[in-house]
Amino acid sequence: MNLRDAVAVVTGGSRGIGAAIAEELGRGGAKVVVNYSGSQEPAEEVASKINEVGGGGEAITVQADVSDPEDAQHLIDETINQFGRIDILVNNAGMNIDKPLNNMEVEDWDQVIQLDLNGAFYTTHAALPHMTEQESGKIINISSVVGESGNMAQANYSAAKAGLHGFTKTAALELAQSNITVNAVAPGFIETGMVGEIPEEIQESILKTIPLGRFGEAEEIGKAVRYIVEHGDYMTGNILDVNGGIYMRS
Ligand code: NAP
Repeated sequence: MNLRDAVAVVTGGSRGIGAAIAEELGRGGAKVVVNYSGSQEPAEEVASKINEVGGGGEAITVQADVSDPEDAQHLIDETINQFGRIDILVNNAGMNIDKPLNNMEVEDWDQVIQLDLNGAFYTTHAALPHMTEQESGKIINISSVVGESGNMAQANYSAAKAGLHGFTKTAALELAQSNITVNAVAPGFIETGMVGEIPEEIQESILKTIPLGRFGEAEEIGKAVRYIVEHGDYMTGNILDVNGGIYMRS
Protein backbone atom coordinates (compact mmCIF):
# COMPACT_ATOMS: atom_id res chain seq x y z
CA MET A 1 0.00 0.00 0.00
CA ASN A 2 1.26 3.46 -0.86
CA LEU A 3 1.13 5.62 2.27
CA ARG A 4 0.76 8.79 0.21
CA ASP A 5 -2.73 7.76 -0.86
CA ALA A 6 -3.74 6.32 2.51
CA VAL A 7 -5.96 7.42 5.38
CA ALA A 8 -4.97 5.95 8.74
CA VAL A 9 -6.71 5.91 12.12
CA VAL A 10 -4.49 5.35 15.15
CA THR A 11 -6.39 4.78 18.38
CA GLY A 12 -4.60 6.14 21.44
CA GLY A 13 -2.37 8.20 19.19
CA SER A 14 -1.73 10.93 21.74
CA ARG A 15 1.14 9.32 23.65
CA GLY A 16 3.68 6.51 23.71
CA ILE A 17 3.55 3.86 21.02
CA GLY A 18 0.42 5.28 19.37
CA ALA A 19 2.05 8.69 18.95
CA ALA A 20 5.13 7.06 17.38
CA ILE A 21 2.94 5.04 14.98
CA ALA A 22 0.94 8.14 13.98
CA GLU A 23 4.14 10.13 13.36
CA GLU A 24 5.75 7.31 11.36
CA LEU A 25 2.69 6.97 9.10
CA GLY A 26 2.52 10.76 8.78
CA ARG A 27 6.20 10.91 7.78
CA GLY A 28 5.37 8.43 5.03
CA GLY A 29 2.75 10.84 3.68
CA ALA A 30 -0.47 9.37 5.12
CA LYS A 31 -3.47 11.33 6.29
CA VAL A 32 -3.64 10.41 9.96
CA VAL A 33 -6.49 10.58 12.46
CA VAL A 34 -4.90 10.86 15.90
CA ASN A 35 -7.43 9.52 18.39
CA TYR A 36 -7.27 10.23 22.13
CA SER A 37 -9.59 9.87 25.08
CA GLY A 38 -8.36 12.50 27.56
CA SER A 39 -4.98 13.84 26.39
CA GLN A 40 -6.14 16.55 24.00
CA GLU A 41 -2.99 18.69 24.12
CA PRO A 42 -0.53 15.83 23.51
CA ALA A 43 -2.76 14.59 20.66
CA GLU A 44 -2.71 18.06 19.09
CA GLU A 45 1.08 18.16 19.43
CA VAL A 46 1.34 14.86 17.55
CA ALA A 47 -0.97 16.18 14.81
CA SER A 48 1.03 19.45 14.57
CA LYS A 49 4.28 17.53 14.17
CA ILE A 50 2.75 15.54 11.30
CA ASN A 51 1.34 18.67 9.67
CA GLU A 52 4.64 20.52 9.98
CA VAL A 53 6.96 17.80 8.73
CA GLY A 54 5.87 18.12 5.07
CA GLY A 55 6.04 15.21 2.66
CA GLY A 56 2.29 15.07 2.22
CA GLY A 57 1.43 13.87 5.73
CA GLU A 58 -1.63 15.52 7.23
CA ALA A 59 -3.33 14.96 10.58
CA ILE A 60 -6.42 15.74 12.60
CA THR A 61 -7.34 14.75 16.15
CA VAL A 62 -10.59 13.07 17.18
CA GLN A 63 -11.64 12.57 20.78
CA ALA A 64 -13.29 9.19 21.36
CA ASP A 65 -13.23 6.63 24.15
CA VAL A 66 -12.89 3.52 22.01
CA SER A 67 -14.06 1.28 24.85
CA ASP A 68 -17.50 2.76 24.13
CA PRO A 69 -19.05 1.43 20.90
CA GLU A 70 -20.81 4.72 20.11
CA ASP A 71 -17.57 6.67 20.50
CA ALA A 72 -15.75 4.14 18.31
CA GLN A 73 -18.41 4.62 15.63
CA HIS A 74 -18.02 8.41 15.97
CA LEU A 75 -14.26 8.07 15.42
CA ILE A 76 -14.75 6.23 12.14
CA ASP A 77 -17.62 8.51 11.05
CA GLU A 78 -15.42 11.58 11.62
CA THR A 79 -12.62 9.97 9.62
CA ILE A 80 -14.98 9.43 6.68
CA ASN A 81 -16.40 12.97 7.04
CA GLN A 82 -12.93 14.52 6.99
CA PHE A 83 -11.01 12.28 4.59
CA GLY A 84 -13.65 10.27 2.70
CA ARG A 85 -12.15 6.81 3.31
CA ILE A 86 -10.23 4.64 5.74
CA ASP A 87 -7.33 2.47 4.59
CA ILE A 88 -5.45 1.68 7.79
CA LEU A 89 -6.84 1.04 11.26
CA VAL A 90 -4.30 0.68 14.05
CA ASN A 91 -5.94 -0.57 17.24
CA ASN A 92 -3.38 0.68 19.71
CA ALA A 93 -5.33 2.19 22.63
CA GLY A 94 -4.72 0.12 25.71
CA MET A 95 -4.35 0.14 29.46
CA ASN A 96 -3.31 -2.19 32.23
CA ILE A 97 -4.38 -2.67 35.85
CA ASP A 98 -1.82 -5.09 37.27
CA LYS A 99 -2.80 -7.16 40.31
CA PRO A 100 -2.36 -10.77 41.32
CA LEU A 101 -5.54 -12.76 40.77
CA ASN A 102 -6.14 -12.88 44.55
CA ASN A 103 -6.58 -9.10 44.58
CA MET A 104 -8.10 -8.59 41.17
CA GLU A 105 -11.60 -7.12 41.35
CA VAL A 106 -14.27 -7.70 38.73
CA GLU A 107 -14.00 -4.02 37.69
CA ASP A 108 -10.21 -4.41 37.16
CA TRP A 109 -10.88 -7.33 34.84
CA ASP A 110 -13.78 -5.68 32.99
CA GLN A 111 -12.09 -2.32 32.43
CA VAL A 112 -9.00 -3.83 30.80
CA ILE A 113 -10.94 -6.30 28.63
CA GLN A 114 -13.36 -3.53 27.64
CA LEU A 115 -10.63 -1.28 26.25
CA ASP A 116 -7.83 -3.64 25.18
CA LEU A 117 -10.02 -6.29 23.52
CA ASN A 118 -13.58 -5.04 23.02
CA GLY A 119 -12.37 -1.61 21.86
CA ALA A 120 -10.52 -3.21 18.94
CA PHE A 121 -13.71 -4.97 17.90
CA TYR A 122 -15.78 -1.78 18.14
CA THR A 123 -13.50 0.24 15.84
CA THR A 124 -13.08 -2.66 13.43
CA HIS A 125 -16.86 -3.17 13.33
CA ALA A 126 -17.33 0.51 12.45
CA ALA A 127 -14.54 0.57 9.84
CA LEU A 128 -15.41 -2.66 8.05
CA PRO A 129 -18.29 -1.46 5.84
CA HIS A 130 -15.95 1.17 4.35
CA MET A 131 -12.99 -1.16 3.86
CA THR A 132 -15.25 -3.85 2.40
CA GLU A 133 -16.72 -1.40 -0.08
CA GLN A 134 -13.22 -0.18 -1.02
CA GLU A 135 -12.08 -3.82 -1.30
CA SER A 136 -8.90 -2.95 0.55
CA GLY A 137 -7.71 -2.23 4.04
CA LYS A 138 -5.07 -2.95 6.62
CA ILE A 139 -6.00 -3.58 10.24
CA ILE A 140 -3.14 -3.78 12.73
CA ASN A 141 -3.77 -4.69 16.34
CA ILE A 142 -1.15 -3.75 18.91
CA SER A 143 -1.07 -6.69 21.27
CA SER A 144 1.81 -7.70 23.57
CA VAL A 145 4.34 -10.43 24.21
CA VAL A 146 2.36 -11.19 27.38
CA GLY A 147 -0.55 -12.29 25.18
CA GLU A 148 1.77 -15.11 24.11
CA SER A 149 3.68 -15.82 27.31
CA GLY A 150 1.39 -14.71 30.17
CA ASN A 151 2.85 -12.55 32.94
CA MET A 152 2.60 -12.31 36.70
CA ALA A 153 -0.18 -9.97 37.89
CA GLN A 154 -1.48 -9.43 34.36
CA ALA A 155 -4.28 -12.01 33.99
CA ASN A 156 -6.70 -9.37 32.66
CA TYR A 157 -4.15 -7.74 30.33
CA SER A 158 -2.66 -10.98 28.99
CA ALA A 159 -6.16 -12.40 28.41
CA ALA A 160 -7.12 -9.29 26.45
CA LYS A 161 -3.94 -9.45 24.36
CA ALA A 162 -4.27 -13.22 23.75
CA GLY A 163 -7.87 -12.49 22.75
CA LEU A 164 -6.57 -9.95 20.24
CA HIS A 165 -4.44 -12.69 18.68
CA GLY A 166 -7.49 -14.92 18.17
CA PHE A 167 -9.43 -11.96 16.83
CA THR A 168 -6.58 -11.09 14.44
CA LYS A 169 -6.42 -14.58 12.96
CA THR A 170 -10.17 -15.04 12.57
CA ALA A 171 -10.66 -11.58 11.09
CA ALA A 172 -7.76 -12.28 8.71
CA LEU A 173 -9.47 -15.46 7.52
CA GLU A 174 -12.86 -13.83 7.07
CA LEU A 175 -11.69 -10.60 5.45
CA ALA A 176 -9.08 -11.92 3.02
CA GLN A 177 -11.76 -12.22 0.33
CA SER A 178 -12.26 -8.44 0.57
CA ASN A 179 -8.51 -7.80 0.25
CA ILE A 180 -8.37 -6.64 3.87
CA THR A 181 -5.36 -7.88 5.83
CA VAL A 182 -5.33 -8.19 9.61
CA ASN A 183 -2.12 -8.54 11.60
CA ALA A 184 -0.93 -7.96 15.13
CA VAL A 185 2.28 -6.37 16.32
CA ALA A 186 3.26 -7.78 19.71
CA PRO A 187 5.72 -5.46 21.47
CA GLY A 188 7.90 -6.54 24.35
CA PHE A 189 8.75 -3.93 26.98
CA ILE A 190 8.81 -0.52 25.32
CA GLU A 191 9.91 2.71 27.00
CA THR A 192 6.61 4.57 27.44
CA GLY A 193 4.48 5.75 30.35
CA MET A 194 3.22 2.17 30.73
CA VAL A 195 6.70 0.77 31.44
CA GLY A 196 7.69 3.93 33.36
CA GLU A 197 5.11 3.01 36.00
CA ILE A 198 6.87 -0.29 36.78
CA PRO A 199 8.98 0.07 39.98
CA GLU A 200 12.68 0.56 39.20
CA GLU A 201 13.89 -2.68 40.82
CA ILE A 202 11.38 -4.67 38.74
CA GLN A 203 12.50 -2.79 35.61
CA GLU A 204 16.08 -3.89 36.42
CA SER A 205 15.07 -7.53 36.73
CA ILE A 206 13.06 -7.39 33.48
CA LEU A 207 16.08 -5.91 31.67
CA LYS A 208 18.15 -8.96 32.64
CA THR A 209 15.67 -11.21 30.81
CA ILE A 210 15.83 -9.30 27.50
CA PRO A 211 18.46 -10.90 25.22
CA LEU A 212 19.10 -7.59 23.40
CA GLY A 213 19.71 -5.99 26.83
CA ARG A 214 17.46 -2.94 26.54
CA PHE A 215 13.85 -1.84 26.45
CA GLY A 216 12.44 -1.12 23.01
CA GLU A 217 11.63 2.34 21.71
CA ALA A 218 8.17 3.40 20.62
CA GLU A 219 9.61 4.38 17.23
CA GLU A 220 10.60 0.74 16.67
CA ILE A 221 6.93 -0.26 16.90
CA GLY A 222 6.04 2.61 14.53
CA LYS A 223 8.50 1.21 11.99
CA ALA A 224 7.07 -2.32 12.31
CA VAL A 225 3.57 -0.99 11.64
CA ARG A 226 4.82 0.99 8.65
CA TYR A 227 6.56 -2.11 7.32
CA ILE A 228 3.29 -4.07 7.40
CA VAL A 229 1.46 -1.22 5.67
CA GLU A 230 4.05 -0.60 2.95
CA HIS A 231 5.51 -4.04 2.37
CA GLY A 232 3.02 -6.47 3.90
CA ASP A 233 0.45 -6.91 1.15
CA TYR A 234 0.90 -10.70 1.31
CA MET A 235 1.00 -10.83 5.13
CA THR A 236 -2.19 -11.63 7.00
CA GLY A 237 -3.06 -13.35 10.28
CA ASN A 238 0.48 -12.80 11.61
CA ILE A 239 1.71 -11.81 15.00
CA LEU A 240 4.86 -9.78 14.45
CA ASP A 241 7.03 -9.97 17.58
CA VAL A 242 9.10 -6.85 18.33
CA ASN A 243 10.44 -7.74 21.74
CA GLY A 244 14.25 -7.86 21.86
CA GLY A 245 14.03 -11.65 22.12
CA ILE A 246 12.33 -11.72 25.52
CA TYR A 247 9.82 -14.37 24.46
CA MET A 248 12.64 -16.91 24.10
CA ARG A 249 13.30 -16.49 27.83
CA SER A 250 9.63 -16.83 28.86
P1 NAP B 1 0.47 4.68 27.04
O1 NAP B 1 1.76 5.42 26.94
O2 NAP B 1 -0.17 4.50 28.37
O3 NAP B 1 -0.57 5.35 26.03
C1 NAP B 1 -1.87 4.84 25.95
C2 NAP B 1 -2.60 5.54 24.84
O4 NAP B 1 -3.94 5.00 24.77
C3 NAP B 1 -2.74 7.03 25.08
O5 NAP B 1 -2.64 7.70 23.85
C4 NAP B 1 -4.15 7.15 25.64
O6 NAP B 1 -4.73 8.40 25.34
C5 NAP B 1 -4.88 6.07 24.87
N1 NAP B 1 -6.09 5.64 25.53
C6 NAP B 1 -6.25 5.16 26.79
N2 NAP B 1 -7.52 4.86 27.01
C7 NAP B 1 -8.21 5.15 25.86
C8 NAP B 1 -9.55 5.05 25.46
N3 NAP B 1 -10.49 4.57 26.29
N4 NAP B 1 -9.89 5.45 24.22
C9 NAP B 1 -8.95 5.95 23.36
N5 NAP B 1 -7.65 6.06 23.68
C10 NAP B 1 -7.29 5.66 24.92
O7 NAP B 1 0.61 3.20 26.46
P2 NAP B 1 1.70 2.59 25.46
O8 NAP B 1 2.77 2.00 26.27
O9 NAP B 1 2.02 3.54 24.38
O10 NAP B 1 0.85 1.36 24.89
C11 NAP B 1 0.18 1.44 23.64
C12 NAP B 1 -0.29 0.04 23.28
O11 NAP B 1 0.84 -0.84 23.21
C13 NAP B 1 -1.24 -0.58 24.29
O12 NAP B 1 -2.21 -1.34 23.64
C14 NAP B 1 -0.33 -1.48 25.11
O13 NAP B 1 -1.04 -2.53 25.70
C15 NAP B 1 0.62 -1.96 24.05
N6 NAP B 1 1.89 -2.43 24.58
C16 NAP B 1 2.72 -1.60 25.27
C17 NAP B 1 3.92 -2.09 25.76
C18 NAP B 1 4.91 -1.24 26.50
O14 NAP B 1 5.90 -1.78 26.97
N7 NAP B 1 4.73 0.06 26.61
C19 NAP B 1 4.24 -3.43 25.57
C20 NAP B 1 3.38 -4.24 24.87
C21 NAP B 1 2.20 -3.73 24.38
P3 NAP B 1 -5.34 9.35 26.48
O15 NAP B 1 -4.19 9.79 27.33
O16 NAP B 1 -5.98 10.43 25.71
O17 NAP B 1 -6.31 8.51 27.24
